[in-house]
Amino acid sequence: MAVQTLCFIGAGNMTRSIVSGLVKSGYPAQSIVATNPSAPKLEAMKKDFAIQVSHDNLAAAQTADVIILSVKPQLMEQVCQGLRTIDLSQKLIITIAAGIEAGRYQDYFAQPITLIRTMPNTPTQLGVGMTGMYAGADVNPAQRQLCEQLMATGGETLWVDQENDLNQVIALAGSSPAYFFLFMESMLQSAQAMGMDEDKARALVQQAAIGAAQMVKQNPHLSLSELRQNVTSKGGTTAQAVETFEHGDLRGLVNQAMENCIKRAEEMA
Ligand code: NAP
Repeated sequence: MAVQTLCFIGAGNMTRSIVSGLVKSGYPAQSIVATNPSAPKLEAMKKDFAIQVSHDNLAAAQTADVIILSVKPQLMEQVCQGLRTIDLSQKLIITIAAGIEAGRYQDYFAQPITLIRTMPNTPTQLGVGMTGMYAGADVNPAQRQLCEQLMATGGETLWVDQENDLNQVIALAGSSPAYFFLFMESMLQSAQAMGMDEDKARALVQQAAIGAAQMVKQNPHLSLSELRQNVTSKGGTTAQAVETFEHGDLRGLVNQAMENCIKRAEEMA
């Protein structure tokens, strides 16, 4: 991959995850700068990854080839307005913010821009992330390839054809690690309530989750339903647990959670 100067505006959780993936994959740390108003996160990133850091968004973005917008959606307009004096015509802008539609950034910057919307998730920090990406017709193939290569340092990538599909990416991959954490947390609490030691319960739950995910990935010819049925003997222990979930309408609850997630993303647009 051709090395470009990358400027991350905002040095929070997601920037840390993406930078971690980049540096681990061998991307030169001296070509990465991250900005943030407060010092502790920048100091930590400088120490952990040896990247450049700055409190000055404008100065850092000025010299970058690629600007990655990584602040919370509610701060995005203000942050972009602060970069308006830069000539952005030769720069690629990548945003990781949920909700905000691509067209709105043009207004925020008050000049024509080339922008790709991405939706990564936190497992990116371990190289097992998933990033959904959307680019309009104005983004050229080289810019698409660059964005894909950068995000692929954190795991898998997937282009969506319609911008609206990014909201599905949020519900399925961006927000979903938290759903799995909640499910595992509930299992852990239950085991503890039944008297099991937390460390032992966690070791069991986490390995089962990893194993289940690997089985899904390594058996693409089997549907999720087939995988479930293969480990559910009629009248057995697993069947008892699965029936309890079905009886409690786990599917309905998941559907409602996904719809609410998407609704929230649409509200932010
Ligand atoms: P975060 O941890 O709160 O990071 C945002 C960072 O922006 C904070 O470090 C904050 O600094 C900094 N910031 C605030 N004002 C700034 C300014 N004017 N200039 C530069 N930096 C500024 O949030 P996050 O979870 O990383 O989320 C960042 C973006 O990623 C959001 O738009 C979110 O939609 C998107 N996203 C998140 C996830 C996820 O799983 N978390 C997944 C996909 C996409 P202070 O804390 O010092 O104020």
